[in-house]
Amino acid sequence: HDSAAEFCVLPPPWEVELAPVFDKDANEPEFLQAVTETLQSVGPLLRDDPKRVETFRRMVEPERVIIFRVPWVDDDGRKRVNRGFRVQMNQARGPYKGGLRFHPTVNLSILKFLAFEQTFKNALTGLPLGSGKGGADFDPKGKSDGEIMRFCQSFMTELYRHVGPTVDVPAGDIGVGGKEIGYMFGQYKRIVGSFDGGVLTGKGMSYGGSNIRPEATGYGLVYFLSEMVQRKDVAPSLAGLRCAISGSGNVSQFAAEKLLSFGAIPQTFSDSDGTLYKETGFDEADLAVVCHHKNEKRGRLRELEGHAEGWEYFEGMRPWQVGKGYDVALPCATQNEVSLEDALALVQKGVMVVAEGANMPSTPEAVEEFERSGVLFGPAKAANAGGVAVSGLEMAQNAMGIQWTREEVEERLRKIMVDIYDKCDEGSKMVEDGSLRIGADISGFLTVAQAMEEQGHV
Ligand code: GLU
Repeated sequence: HDSAAEFCVLPPPWEVELAPVFDKDANEPEFLQAVTETLQSVGPLLRDDPKRVETFRRMVEPERVIIFRVPWVDDDGRKRVNRGFRVQMNQARGPYKGGLRFHPTVNLSILKFLAFEQTFKNALTGLPLGSGKGGADFDPKGKSDGEIMRFCQSFMTELYRHVGPTVDVPAGDIGVGGKEIGYMFGQYKRIVGSFDGGVLTGKGMSYGGSNIRPEATGYGLVYFLSEMVQRKDVAPSLAGLRCAISGSGNVSQFAAEKLLSFGAIPQTFSDSDGTLYKETGFDEADLAVVCHHKNEKRGRLRELEGHAEGWEYFEGMRPWQVGKGYDVALPCATQNEVSLEDALALVQKGVMVVAEGANMPSTPEAVEEFERSGVLFGPAKAANAGGVAVSGLEMAQNAMGIQWTREEVEERLRKIMVDIYDKCDEGSKMVEDGSLRIGADISGFLTVAQAMEEQGHV
């Protein structure tokens, strides 16, 4: 989207109430998109309620934004610099909590949209978590391990003074996985001189991490999907459903693994260059090949074309445009990856359910098309909350000085995802023509609004 203006057209009375916000942030299209979508959901609750309007206006303003220089030296001895950020969005329900993204597209608009989404998502988990997001415009692609380590250390050399187990607890997001969290944790510990396990989540199992944290977003997504499919009578179970997955990173990989355990058929993965497709579906052994290629070899999917019988690759195509027919679509790559055209293609291919593994992957026009066509839609704030939920469980384990088993963590995750579904369902009933999407926004909003209002609107 090139213009913020297209997101600023709000129905009355909010266009008046929020005009100042939209003026101030007119150059932040992703942020305005996220705010507008949420505002349209909670709008009916704000009508004739000046107190709630005021609360919403405060939610839209980050409590604090930190922008900083990240200097580092590359392998050729060249001095490099990137821009680092931490958006501390909302501390009403707990320490600021949300991931760090390292990607060349990172800017304030994207991080504010992500932090804003995190406010609602974290509230839906029911755990005592505030919200935030951060990162840098650093591109990990093609960087050596040494470069990544030095970058992470430099990033934390500034960030350490702004975070802490009860202050702000970052984790991973795009471009930040276990390895990066490890380097940042090591640097934090050297600077402050104490082992504050709860300052970061997504840590390794050898130094205070939680079981199932790497798997959590993907697993949680499939638990949420399973709840949608069964509770809305789309199908008796996920067994036999053909699934289009976008992305090929952490979320996509573990979503595919969990789909397989439910007997569903994952047919695609993608990266920014194209889509890998197998009509009969990728099985466990295939998935291991894809994961090894992405994680260990840091390869591109095009290199897997023709790897075995039936492995097809479509350069420049998104999963939504490939394939003969899908029952389920799981966008797990990045924001605004599903356009109106993509949504039309999915509807035409017979998709019945969309559940968002990435943050805000569907454009507003795509969401509209899904809803117009009766496609059941699981919004990101709810469907991908499993990651931050297990981050919350990691903080709890760190505070107690214990580590739960895989089974214990996974059972808690499953329960949280079912609870989130219930909250969306309840929220959806509070307004006319409610949906899971509207219900997620309403439930998240009311939970955070109550905490803010009880603490004097802070
Ligand atoms: N980056 C993930 C998200 O978008 C996880 C955040 C966290 O664990 O703090 O929710």
